[in-house]
Amino acid sequence: YEAKQKRSGWSVFSERNTQIGRQRLQLRADLENGLSEEQIKLYYQPKVSLIDGRIIGVEALSRWYHPTDGRLSPVHFIDLIEQSCRVQEFGRYVIQNAIQQLSIWHRQGITIPVAINLSPYNLLDPDLLNFTLTRLKDYAVPPNLLEIELIESSTSMNIDYISARLNDFKDAGIQLAIDDFGTGMSSLSYISNLRVDNIKIDRSFITDFEQDPKKQAVVTAAIALIKSFGSNVIAEGIENKSQADLLIEMGCLCGQGYYFAKPMRADEVETLLLSNTSLPLA
Ligand code: C2E
Ligand code: MG
Ligand code: MG
Ligand code: MG
Repeated sequence: YEAKQKRSGWSVFSERNTQIGRQRLQLRADLENGLSEEQIKLYYQPKVSLIDGRIIGVEALSRWYHPTDGRLSPVHFIDLIEQSCRVQEFGRYVIQNAIQQLSIWHRQGITIPVAINLSPYNLLDPDLLNFTLTRLKDYAVPPNLLEIELIESSTSMNIDYISARLNDFKDAGIQLAIDDFGTGMSSLSYISNLRVDNIKIDRSFITDFEQDPKKQAVVTAAIALIKSFGSNVIAEGIENKSQADLLIEMGCLCGQGYYFAKPMRADEVETLLLSNTSLPLA
């Protein structure tokens, strides 16, 4: 009986896999139009000062308005893009859109930085820095308003190469952040050799950490380590006030999370920025 159940369980699983496989093939095929028709839009999630809830920056997060599947979140398509020949095109697309938005805000006197997510693969694009600097110039946006968050990717790419490319961006005045700190590949020697402005402690360490002394010990150590690199600490995934309070006590003064604000459309975040609001909204 057990064997039979296992077998049927397996067959259901495999059927589902084929279905997902088929969907992914379709999505991959849809990518071309997705990019050329600008179906992928940037949402923006505020980063705040934990002390007074002031917005200190925003992070651009992609959403795909797929013509038949509706609004897709990045889990459904980022790795597809990274495995496709469109990865460089996508990196440039995101940079271009973020800079356009920055210029709109800059002209209204809003001078908060916009961070975009890039994967190490994007750094293989030999002309990416040139592309970025040209766009910044064309749109009259100061380089220090753009920040690159290097996301974790399962990559065996040469770490010295990644570091050198990142430092080129830094030399050009663009801000650098390490995303999802504490997970994945980022070796400490690699990070300590980068001039990183911000390091973001991964959400998994913040989730429920107010009830978990082990996680608290890890977060305390991470904060000390990040400060020893000379970088600013940002906590990801703050979902309630006790987490924010505990982080302040530990010396982490910046954060991001649903407690303060979810990712939102450009016009929504613009309203917030123009009203000088502190988060969370009461
Ligand atoms: P990330 O850069 O670490 O972004 C944070 C993710 O956590 C976002 O998910 C955000 O919506 C979510 N988040 C923020 N606060 C909270 C919270 O309090 N609770 C919970 N449960 N989640 C929270 P999202 O937008 O689905 O993006 C997922 C990942 O996809 C990003 O993680 C980033 O690695 C990648 N990604 C998103 N947009 C882009 C992009 O334009 N380019 C590239 N290369 N990767 C992107
Ligand atoms: Mg990020
Ligand atoms: Mg992150
Ligand atoms: Mg992440």
